[in-house]
Amino acid sequence: MSPTPVRLHNSLSRSLQTLEPITPGRVTIYTCGSTVYRYAHIGNLRTYLFGDLLRRTLAYLGYEVTYVKNVTDVGHMRDDQTDGGEDRMIVAALEEGKTPLEIAEFYTRAWLEDEVLINIVEPDVLPKATDHIGEMLALIETLVDKGLAYEVDGTVYFDVSSFPAYGRLSGQRVNQTRAGTRVEVETDKRHPADFALWKRAEPGRLMHWPSQWGEGFPGWHIECSAMSMKYLGDRFDIHTGGIDLKFPHHEDEIAQSEGATGHRVVNIWLHGEFLTLDDEKMAKSAGNIIRVSELPEKGFQPLDFRYLALTAHYRSKLDFTEPAMQAAASGLRRLRRAVAAGAETGVDLTAEPMAGYGNRFRDAIADDLGIPAALASAHAVAGADDLTPDQKRALLLDFDRVLGLSLDSPAEGTGIPLPAGAAELLERRAAARAAMDWIEADRLRDELAGLGVRVRDTPEGQVATRRS
Ligand code: AMP
Ligand code: ZN
Repeated sequence: MSPTPVRLHNSLSRSLQTLEPITPGRVTIYTCGSTVYRYAHIGNLRTYLFGDLLRRTLAYLGYEVTYVKNVTDVGHMRDDQTDGGEDRMIVAALEEGKTPLEIAEFYTRAWLEDEVLINIVEPDVLPKATDHIGEMLALIETLVDKGLAYEVDGTVYFDVSSFPAYGRLSGQRVNQTRAGTRVEVETDKRHPADFALWKRAEPGRLMHWPSQWGEGFPGWHIECSAMSMKYLGDRFDIHTGGIDLKFPHHEDEIAQSEGATGHRVVNIWLHGEFLTLDDEKMAKSAGNIIRVSELPEKGFQPLDFRYLALTAHYRSKLDFTEPAMQAAASGLRRLRRAVAAGAETGVDLTAEPMAGYGNRFRDAIADDLGIPAALASAHAVAGADDLTPDQKRALLLDFDRVLGLSLDSPAEGTGIPLPAGAAELLERRAAARAAMDWIEADRLRDELAGLGVRVRDTPEGQVATRRS
């Protein structure tokens, strides 16, 4: 059966368009991943949930999806993130007495553990920027050879005036861009809008690599050009990120990738709106961040937050409030109760009246990821008069392939006592994790598995269950 057509809002054309995969039936997606020198907050995770909903939707509708999400483990400078110009990943590393790569490894794990808690499916490829310095240098060399970039004293800049399409995505005009931002400390640029592809390492910088221009480190934007094209080819279907990445990050990525290849690389750009707290953008710099692991202290489960994220369209802002989370938690309970009331039977979802409910769900998600409408159709199923409990259960579990709410989640901790010795091993593993000793923590996990105990890391710490 051929996949269901999908409409998506392309930031580049500023309009809804039907997805026409480069290879029919297959969709390639790249999402800008986390900067791993701090914990990811639920604002960041809203954006990753949006990527997750996109890939789940496309898979549900019959496409074969390849999903790449990177790890930005090179500290990068960004206009709204720099504190006096220093690299915050390096500052954090120094403060904690760790190397940058150890810090990056720690926060990468923390980010991915948070993603597991809210049922974000792992990407097919999770490339780290530090593993792709060679690809970035090759791309920069191509841009220099083509006359699109120039070197000044060990730093290589992209020459924005050589790329006429610059500004097409964000609507920024070259003579407006970057004026008045701190980036202007780079006084050796030919034009204020030019941006660094490679930066000379100043004395004391911990993360640097050799290059034909001397010791240095890559700019943030070149990382995503290099990794996306390495894994998805020089033409791929969809690129996603939060709305703040439109400029300069994605504008610069287009200039680099299209400049190097000479053709369109990404067909559809999708941008997700912000999560706000008291109507202010949640951001590390604003100091108003909440982590997934802090939700239980506030009386909520991580999946309550996933549910909350499903209640807003990805192109709308979403405010995180206590009443909204209460409503999310109760909505989730309602769907789970409907699933629990049914039994596993061979319900034919293509027969009426199930097909009608299924079509409404399908139509909603195929229309620019109308997840709020899809969620409403799940509630219509839960409250339907013309469906049996078994039919409701079958429909809701089918929808859950997209919603990802663990609607059939088994109760945790069955009350079976743990075997002798397990408690001590768990204590040692908690200590190893606190000391960031992942090798020891993994070894102890294996030892516990040998005793028939499965360990999961949750916001409240380790949860051990006995394998039945
Ligand atoms: P960063 O680690 O700062 O590069 O951000 C990772 C992702 O989170 C990017 O796609 C950002 O656009 C996104 N992001 C940052 N803050 C928010 C927010 N408050 N709401 C939604 N997405 C956000
Ligand atoms: Zn990126």
